[in-house]
Order: sequence, then C-alpha cells, then structure tokens
Amino acid sequence: MNCPYEPYRIKVVEPITFTSREERCRLLHEAGFNLFQLPAESVAIDLLTDSGTSAMSDSQWAGLMLGDESYAGSKNFYHFEAAVRSLCGYRYVVPTHQGRAAEHVLFAAVVKPGMCVPNNMHFDTTRANIEHRDAEALDLVIKEAYDPHCELPFKGNMDVDRLEAIIERVGPDRVPLVLITITNNSGGGQPVSIANIRATSRLLKRYGIPLFFDACRFAENCFFIKEREPGYADVPVREIARSLFSLGDGCLMSAKKDGLVNIGGFLSVNDERWARAITNHLILVEGFPTYGGLAGRDLEALARGLEEVLDEDYLRFRISQVRYLGELLARGGVPILKPIGGHAVYINAREFLPHLQQHRFPAQALAVALYREYGIRGVEIGSVMFGTRDSPAEEAAYPELELVRLAIPRRVYTNSHLAYVAESVVDLFQHRDAIRGLVMTYGAPQLRHFTARFEEESSAVTQFHGAGVVTLPQ
Ligand SMILES: *Cc1c(COP(=O)(O)O)cnc(C)c1O
Repeated sequence: MNCPYEPYRIKVVEPITFTSREERCRLLHEAGFNLFQLPAESVAIDLLTDSGTSAMSDSQWAGLMLGDESYAGSKNFYHFEAAVRSLCGYRYVVPTHQGRAAEHVLFAAVVKPGMCVPNNMHFDTTRANIEHRDAEALDLVIKEAYDPHCELPFKGNMDVDRLEAIIERVGPDRVPLVLITITNNSGGGQPVSIANIRATSRLLKRYGIPLFFDACRFAENCFFIKEREPGYADVPVREIARSLFSLGDGCLMSAKKDGLVNIGGFLSVNDERWARAITNHLILVEGFPTYGGLAGRDLEALARGLEEVLDEDYLRFRISQVRYLGELLARGGVPILKPIGGHAVYINAREFLPHLQQHRFPAQALAVALYREYGIRGVEIGSVMFGTRDSPAEEAAYPELELVRLAIPRRVYTNSHLAYVAESVVDLFQHRDAIRGLVMTYGAPQLRHFTARFEEESSAVTQFHGAGVVTLPQ
C-alpha cells in the first residue's frame, strides 16, 4: 500500500535558511536552551508541531480569493456548512477560530461544576477547558496505551468496561457527554477502531449520554481503520468517516490538523437546545454564527481542505511518510514508541540517554542536541512539560515517559527532508554519550515548557528569576 512518491507537484517554494553550528550554539544560549524561544527562521526542518503548519493546495489558495467578507450570511459559510454536514451528518455547524474555542463554547453550554467528562485521552486544552468549569476530565484509554513497546493496531481505544464502571459510580446525571479523541494525540497519535466506537456508543445509549468526537485527525484515524480493521479494506475512507460519525451525537475539531488549514475549527451537533446555547455563547466570545472568529476566505479554504484530506492517495502517502521516518529510525537502533502513529514519531529519550536522570531533563537535552547539531526542531514531551519539581528528591513529580516528538506537517516536507532527519537522529544516537544534561534556571508555575530556561550541566549555576525561583541540586 506504500506510495513511492509525494502525490503532488510543488508550485510554490519557501527557502530554508542554513545556519552554522556556531550560530545555533549562540541562538540556543539566547533562547535559554528552550526551542520555543528560537526564531523559526533559524530552524532547518521544523517538526515542532503538525498543528496549523500544513501547506494549502492550489485550490485552497484560489478559494481565498473567493472570500466573501460579509458580516452575516457569507457564501463561504454555506459552503463550509455543507462540507461539514456531508462529512459528519450532524444538523448544526458552528465555526470557531480554532479547536480550543470549540471546546470552550461546548463545555460552557453543557458542563457544570462537579460533573465528570471521560475521554480515551484528553488533549491538554480539552482537559484545561473542562477543569475550568470545575469538572473532572478523566482519561480512560486501554491500559496498553501506556506501554511504549506494546504493539496493538488500535492502541487509542477506550476502555469500555472502565467507562461503564465510572458511569455507575458517579451516576449518569453527572456525565454530560463522553469524548473520543481520534487519533489519540496525547497517546502517540494512535487510532481508535470502529468496533470500539460502536461498543462505546451502545453503552452510552443505554444511559442516555451523548458521545462526541474530538475529531482533529479523523481522516488519519479512518485511514488506519481501512488498513487495519477487518471488513474495511475496500470501503472508501469517506464512507468510513460517515459511519464513524454516525455513531456519535456531535464533534469538535481543530481544523489546524486534518482541515489542512493554518487556522480554524468547528463544532457540530444534533441537539437543538445544545446548538442554541452554544450559538448564544459564541456570539459573546467568537463572533456571529456565520463566521465564528474566521474570515470568509478562511472558511472557504477549510471547506476545500475537508474534501482534500479524504483523498486516499494523499492519506496513503501521509501515513506512509510518517512510517518511513519511524522505520528508518528503528532500523538505526533508535528507541521509538511503537506502533508508529499517524502524525508523529516519538523518540524514547530515557532509553536514548540512559546516563541522564530525569531531573537532568533527558528529552529536552536530546531536543537541544538535535537542533544544535543538525538544525532540526522537535518538541519535548516529558519532565519539562509535565514535571512539577526540579529536584531528584521528588521522584513522584516526574512523568512516566520522556519523549521527543517529531511531528510531521502535512504536505510540507519531502521524503528527502525526512531521510536527512533520520540520518541525523541515527548519527546523534551513535554519539549519545556526549550529550549533557540540563539544569532548569527558570520555571513558570504553569505551562512552563513555553518559557522555561536552562543551562548545560557542567557550566550550571543556581540562578534566581523573580517569581519562578527554583533551587537546584548541585
Ligand atoms: C490541537 C488539538 C486541540 C486544540 O486545538 P487548537 O486548534 O490548538 O486550539 C484539541 N484536541 C486535540 C486532540 C488536538 O490535537
């Protein structure tokens, strides 16, 4: 099923700037060894995220010129609405400027303090928006999802038995909805099977609880279903998507992923009362319901992106490109999370750098080395992002996994870019003993990965920075 080459020709190009190792060393010092603080122009291959980084097609760019910027009733809204309806089949379609805004208006309408919202695994903004309502966000993915070596075709599946136990315990009245995230972003981009969604849907119908999809990567999930789930090999991905969505009552989506646009999102629901409450709140925080924080031209690009993402040549190449990178790394002996997910390859930094303890931030140290030596930017998903302490005495404050995620933007890089990435990581792996740990010199109380500062281990000294004081072991 592998596609031997990119299923598109390149019509517009964006030059990549080359920097010297010396320049990158200087930039790293200025950035406090935090890759979020680098000027993007100084990055050769940017694998920080797949969100909002897609390349639009000629048809999407042409669509921008057809933007109708009327305040109300823009023709692009109707096109977008029709595209979402034909994809998901739900009655009401509400545009938002991105995914988290859709989360905000949905949860504001239906989640009350003391309630509980299960998901296979919440994305961080989803969790934060639920907790902001003084409700509980529960992760109920199957337990194998937490084992980096366990290879299952649908490692993003919901643990339906645990879901039932939770509903019985808290009572169905306290569960306003259940979410399923496709693919499971926080769990490595792993897909959920139709059989699992059907089982979840059947259980929830018994209790009268609505099922919603966090559908950011629905097309990638549906392609995995076609590849892996018995009975779907010959079903068009569009039809798989229709039957998947028909098992739920609504969805929300960050269109910055499978919408193939740089900004946008939406919410779609069947229930009229929910739609009314959501729309009223939308006017307060996002805008009139026919634009929801977007320009008419953005809605046009999104309507076209939702069609294009279901093109099976595109999807086959997309999934095989991510797999291509992952397999090159695995062949070079680099420890990665298995199976390879839909939008990213995750390097297991604890196994890559066994000589670094967690309070020396191995995943961050690996991401820094990858930028310094080769100009490649990935993202740390480990103790910087999830840890809450910086001292080895407080073991419990470190997450289980130390990962560097290499997220692949859609339609942006060719396989030769990714071959370069693979060669670089394998080269680094062969010289891994030389990678030094990091000492955190500043850590904000929340979401510290965006602003944290570090020094390299040998030259590290304790520093104090206002409110974010951290005391460091020598
Ligand atoms: C990106 C993402 C979101 C949030 O969307 P934004 O457009 O970044 O606000 C929500 N859920 C999942 C699974 C995501 O990947």
